[in-house]
Amino acid sequence: MQQGPRTGKQPAIRGDATPPEPWHALTPEAVLERLDSTAGGLTEEAARERLERFGPNELKRERGDSAWKLLWRQINSPLIWVLIASAVLAILLGKVTDGLVVAAVVVLNTLIGFVQEYRAGKAIEALGHMVPESTTVVRDGRPVALPASRLVPGDVVRLSSGDRVPADLRLLHSRNLQVEEAALTGESVPSSKHVAPVAWDAELGDRASLAFGGTLVTAGTTTAVVVATGGATELGRISYMLEQTTDLSTPLTRELARLGRVITLGIVVLSAVLLGVGLLRGYAFSDAVLVSITLAVAAIPEGLPAIVTIALAIGVQRMASRRAVIRKLPAVETLGSTTVICTDKTGTLTRNEMTVRALWTPEGTHELTGVGHATAGQLLRDGQPRDALPEDVRALLLASVLCNEAALQSHGGRWRMTGDPTEGALLVAAEKVGLRVSDLRARHPRLDAIPFESEQQFMATLHADGADGRRDLFLKGAPEVVLRRCTAETDVDGVLAEVERLARQGMRVLAVARKDAPGATSLGTGDVEDGFTLLGLQGMIDPPREEAMEAVKGCHAAGIRVKMMTGDHLATAEAIGIQLGLHTPERPGLTGARLSELDDAALATAVEDTNVFARVAPEHKLRLVRALQAQGHVVAMTGDGVNDAPALKQANIGVAMGITGTAVSREASDLVLTDDHFATIVSAVEEGRRVYDNLIKSLAFVLPTNLGLALILLLGVAFFPIQQVGGVHVPLMVMRPTQLLWINLVATVTLALPLAFEARERHVMCRPPRAPDAPVLNRFVVMRTGLVALLMAAGAIGLFLWDFNRQAGTRDALAEAQTMAVNTVISFQIFYLLLCRTLSGSVREVGLFSNRTVFVGIATLVLLQAAFMYVPFFQRLFGTAPLSPVDIARSVLVGAGVLPIVGLEKWLRSRGGRRSGQKAAFPHGRARLPA
Ligand code: ADP
Ligand code: MG
Repeated sequence: MQQGPRTGKQPAIRGDATPPEPWHALTPEAVLERLDSTAGGLTEEAARERLERFGPNELKRERGDSAWKLLWRQINSPLIWVLIASAVLAILLGKVTDGLVVAAVVVLNTLIGFVQEYRAGKAIEALGHMVPESTTVVRDGRPVALPASRLVPGDVVRLSSGDRVPADLRLLHSRNLQVEEAALTGESVPSSKHVAPVAWDAELGDRASLAFGGTLVTAGTTTAVVVATGGATELGRISYMLEQTTDLSTPLTRELARLGRVITLGIVVLSAVLLGVGLLRGYAFSDAVLVSITLAVAAIPEGLPAIVTIALAIGVQRMASRRAVIRKLPAVETLGSTTVICTDKTGTLTRNEMTVRALWTPEGTHELTGVGHATAGQLLRDGQPRDALPEDVRALLLASVLCNEAALQSHGGRWRMTGDPTEGALLVAAEKVGLRVSDLRARHPRLDAIPFESEQQFMATLHADGADGRRDLFLKGAPEVVLRRCTAETDVDGVLAEVERLARQGMRVLAVARKDAPGATSLGTGDVEDGFTLLGLQGMIDPPREEAMEAVKGCHAAGIRVKMMTGDHLATAEAIGIQLGLHTPERPGLTGARLSELDDAALATAVEDTNVFARVAPEHKLRLVRALQAQGHVVAMTGDGVNDAPALKQANIGVAMGITGTAVSREASDLVLTDDHFATIVSAVEEGRRVYDNLIKSLAFVLPTNLGLALILLLGVAFFPIQQVGGVHVPLMVMRPTQLLWINLVATVTLALPLAFEARERHVMCRPPRAPDAPVLNRFVVMRTGLVALLMAAGAIGLFLWDFNRQAGTRDALAEAQTMAVNTVISFQIFYLLLCRTLSGSVREVGLFSNRTVFVGIATLVLLQAAFMYVPFFQRLFGTAPLSPVDIARSVLVGAGVLPIVGLEKWLRSRGGRRSGQKAAFPHGRARLPA
């Protein structure tokens, strides 16, 4: 019934405005007729013309959150409310300039946060386009893979389970088609689809002869014609906006937000106490209030949320550049604490360059030489070349060519393969011994097929053999599955021994069988239950990827276990596991069947000890993830099939394959590998650890400043004398509120942001994973904060007092001493920043200039600080005075004092770390050590 493709006249297809055609009520023939298409699809030329006319098959994307909402999120934090209240209070008490400066800095800070979050959101949104969806389209009578965006009305597409429906389709043929339409109707139970027309006035959900764009095929296969694309689809017509998650919150940001609230509350209480102390010491009421406002302004880490968001967004971008696309932001940080990676074998750990090496038939074994997909190769028997092709081998290869979905195109002596590499290998094998795939297929037309599904582990096809009603029914699949369906004469034990022998060499083994099905025209599952005759076995090698071996080693050094979960034979899996260094014969692997027999307690020990799981089905994967999680593991799990979705959702990090994975599995995942490589997961883990380290660095940098500023203020209020200025009493303050705000918001943010760009620690993959429940505010951060805050306060107050007393009496003495204090804190911060670039090592190890942004930050701050001191406008605003070069040198010198002291602390800590047996000082709390 294959007709030649037609070139397009103008097809009767609606534009956006006309009412939709009742495609569901027409017969397939009528639909094709109206669309001016054929079962053989459109010609390339017609398709090109239609693409111009109808535009690409894309839906307009809209941001999930409006800019206003994002802005409100910036403002609506307790920190900001305290600041706004402070500004209002200051203005009411007559400190108008102070109040306005506070307000201005709040606005500035909100804007910076807004812009950064907006850009971060955009970056994350852009990831959605990084994994293009491709569809099988019939053009010029031949199936080709095209991006879904190039589809036009009239195109004939083929879909199978796991695919996303790329546009609105009218079914032409379908087998068992089940489609989940939640995207359109909200109904998550899949509905059955079939070819027969349905009533004219059927509701959307009842139009069983249509499949709608954006829905997911959960079972079966279909060939269908595109009736509407892009905005003209049902999804486009309800002006549906693709759901975009712009929610940038993660467990970590939530914990930091909580921390922020606790700090804020503590500071509000402390401010009240300070107000009391001020009044007791005889401050005027307005001064006492100002002092307590100042405390709030100084000690709240306002810049922190922006820094965290940016660090996460940078992490996401860097992962994407290493071919790991994050779909859910929290995954960025969960990756850093991953303790187990459960991975597929075929294509992820191995190259998926299958090559048939062994052909076994009941008559004997043959070897096949040649590498990869090259056409050259020889059939050997006992090491001797065979000239003629024995009949048994011919029958085996014929069946494997026909019971096969892959296709070969020759390209200068090499074959380009499309489809499943396992099947492609069978085609290459046939070509090597001189069988022409295209001839065989033309001579034995296929009447029907049951497609391969991982769960069943077989596929079957029905072929006409000559004109006289003879029929061949071929079965190909995992040996156990095929043998179970063979007649009683088969020497099952003998064959299984042969399978075992091949599998132990790391080969994937397929069995092929045949039976007569006289007169049959279609296939049901009942037809493939029994009565087959075994034709033989094919053993194919699939070498491990070099990078995968390295990556497995890397994982072990990083305290991460690697577990292989494959549908393949146990012996094959174990052989590959040994080559990859993740399996030893002492701890034998387990099969899915064995797993089903284990109770939960036995499973708990099994998941800890075993690294190879073979013949596993998706439900086993789900059970294994749960068992690992019950042991306290943080699990990353790969999956590609429709039925892997539950396990992917259950895993802490569901990893989907960008190339070979189904749309359904990608939908369920947190992370998509655009190259399908195992090593890419490991890069993502490394990036995850880096992001977390850099956040800790930012905290270790920001928090001491806030505590230091608070100390400066508290000590001043508690102990400093009250000044007599022009007849009024004023408290002697080391810094004015606006100056504190300057340090807290301008200087700290400028300096802390570059830490998010810091390269990874040298030992980042030589230490155990971070415990997922380890507090952010760990002992390291707390101790560091205390130490540095004390140093900072001592330096600033010391220079302030020295300068003030030196100049006592002169008009600008206070302003100058205050400027001196600010300048000291800022020099201190600049030097401390260099120390914060690495948590445990020395700056020399990471390379002083390895992170340019640090110096951009420092240069920016130096310019701003110069303006702060020397530009009259700033002087008025912040009450600063110009410092002499000598004074600047003094403050810089005092600031540099942090270098030897924190350097000593680092050295002591790294020695302590080494003594307790860890490779690097590891500040991340309790951690799981590898077995
Ligand atoms: P993996 O986890 O290695 O991807 P699969 O689920 O793809 O495993 O395959 C499981 C088993 O099913 C294989 O060992 C093989 O015996 C059989 N098999 C794989 N691909 C096909 C196919 N295209 N046709 C028939 N049988 C297959
Ligand atoms: Mg597979």
